[in-house]
Amino acid sequence: MKITFACPQCDAVNRIAVDEKTETVACYQCDSTIKVPAKAVTSDEIQRCIVCPSLELYVRKDFPQWLGVTIVTVGIGSSCVAWYYHLVIWTFVILLGSALVDVVLFLLVGNQLKCYRCGAEYRDVAGLDTHEAFNLETHEKHRQQVARLAESEPVKPSS
Ligand SMILES: [Zn+2]
Ligand SMILES: [Zn+2]
Repeated sequence: MKITFACPQCDAVNRIAVDEKTETVACYQCDSTIKVPAKAVTSDEIQRCIVCPSLELYVRKDFPQWLGVTIVTVGIGSSCVAWYYHLVIWTFVILLGSALVDVVLFLLVGNQLKCYRCGAEYRDVAGLDTHEAFNLETHEKHRQQVARLAESEPVKPSS
């Protein structure tokens, strides 16, 4: 599987492949290494985040938001041009077409796993069914944990 993560030391974005034999991952920029927790990766499945202490990952569409926005924007822009030239049918064809492309792309792209806490992304992962979709409560829990860490207060063990 491939993971994309921001280095905890220098924030450089790393894209690397890992499997169950990977013991450490190193940042290409600052050379700091992260030890892969035991049993975190089993065959093509991932049990927990390997970059941070988080055990919770969520499933999301591997669909970059900018792409969706670009398609819609280009669609609306072109339909305005068509409208300007009184090409009424083309105006609607373009609008519907761009919406359709958006939907089809969304259905075609695969899923990825994302860590609630550090935002690391895991692609080409098997067994996605064992992970849950995004949950706002869990997200909020991790956000507050990170905020507390940032204030450098001692971390209370979560219940
Ligand atoms: Zn680094
Ligand atoms: Zn993480």
